[in-house]
Amino acid sequence: MALVPCKECGTLNSEHADICLSCEFPTKGRSKKTLWRWVAFGLAMMLGAPLAMYALDLLKTPQASPSKKA
Ligand SMILES: [Zn+2]
Repeated sequence: MALVPCKECGTLNSEHADICLSCEFPTKGRSKKTLWRWVAFGLAMMLGAPLAMYALDLLKTPQASPSKKA
């Protein structure tokens, strides 16, 4: 269990606390959620972009797979 400083007053609160014990400022504000949203977005782009390119590559060459001349 980690302690995180309150963004408003600097009091150390449990990372699981919803509000600051001292000033009742919400410890889980928008900034953290936004950060995680951007992290998720970045990961989705990193993982999704190659997959999308691969999918597009497959769609571009539909004739290649049925006619196997190997
Ligand atoms: Zn506080």
